[in-house]
Amino acid sequence: MASDETNRSPEIRKDAIHNRWVIFSPARARRPSDFKSKTDPNDSKDRTECPFCAGHEHECAPEIFRVPPESTSDWRIRVIQNLYPALSRRLDFTDGENDGCSAALPGFGFHDVVIESPAHRVHLEDHSPARIADVLLAYIQRIEQIREFDSIKYVQVFKNHGASAGASMSHPHSQIMALPVVPPTVSARLNSMKEFFLQTGKCSLCQVKRDDLVIDESSHFIAVAPFAATFPFEIWVVPRDHSSHFHELDHEKALDLAGLLKVILIKMSSQLKDPPYNLMIHTAPLQLDSSELPFTHWFIQIVPQLTLTGGFELGTGCYINPVFPEDAAKVLRDVSVPNQR
Ligand code: AMP
Ligand code: ZN
Ligand code: ZN
Repeated sequence: MASDETNRSPEIRKDAIHNRWVIFSPARARRPSDFKSKTDPNDSKDRTECPFCAGHEHECAPEIFRVPPESTSDWRIRVIQNLYPALSRRLDFTDGENDGCSAALPGFGFHDVVIESPAHRVHLEDHSPARIADVLLAYIQRIEQIREFDSIKYVQVFKNHGASAGASMSHPHSQIMALPVVPPTVSARLNSMKEFFLQTGKCSLCQVKRDDLVIDESSHFIAVAPFAATFPFEIWVVPRDHSSHFHELDHEKALDLAGLLKVILIKMSSQLKDPPYNLMIHTAPLQLDSSELPFTHWFIQIVPQLTLTGGFELGTGCYINPVFPEDAAKVLRDVSVPNQR
């Protein structure tokens, strides 16, 4: 495929993980420099007013746990309840009637906030790999607690960074939402991965590695621009070894992943000028049948928010991406980051 965008024709690629079509449109292509984000007016709250800062713990909803567990003012991470939860953690909420075909369920679930640092003006990637690993392990510790509830079917870990990525707080944080249903995007992903497996006998994410799409690698993970990236400069971080659930990650792999995440976030931030972004951990539903294990493979999706979704995308479910992923991969691969691992 020609690397000069002027020689390229539009191409429609199928994302075999999400079963959706993406239009790569050279006519709409712009140079990566055009994607550098404008300064995000995210920091509307002065740090002295921020409830997530050290010293303001009393302004937050109740704490679930902190890291280290016995720490006082010297905590590194706090997992707290969301002050404005989308779902209710009250167990009596599960008592509603559900005949399996009702269109409404009680809104039982968990909506927690992970405060990633006591300091306000730091980014996740400013921390050492060991501290980033602590954040990943805090997610896992909370998922293990949530797993005790049979009525919880799916746990979504996500991070909004920057106002145009949906963040209302500029203090470094992420969120964990535990749902009593398997969300439609997850079911669609499972169906699509199952179809690929039935056709090829292989897990689609075990096949993700393609040299021109690789951005960086670690011992246990590969960071790629996905072949049919929905968004410009979208990045997936995929475990090399087949694994269905994020919460199965052990300490050694968490540290390895943290080192790679740090590098990837630094690369993205330097090439795209600290863009607003969303980071999602895509894992398998909690109650997975053993027959589904061979084709479910967890991964992290990072989406810098550089374009707007318009009527075409809402109407068709197809996306137009002006940047071919092999070009995005090259731009990100070429940033040199001192060894972080
Ligand atoms: P985001 O809007 O993505 O930045 O996530 C921040 C989350 O923190 C939101 O879901 C808020 O509901 C939640 N939140 C805001 N203030 C507090 C607080 N004082 N204690 C606990 N959660 C809070
Ligand atoms: Zn703060
Ligand atoms: Zn796999």
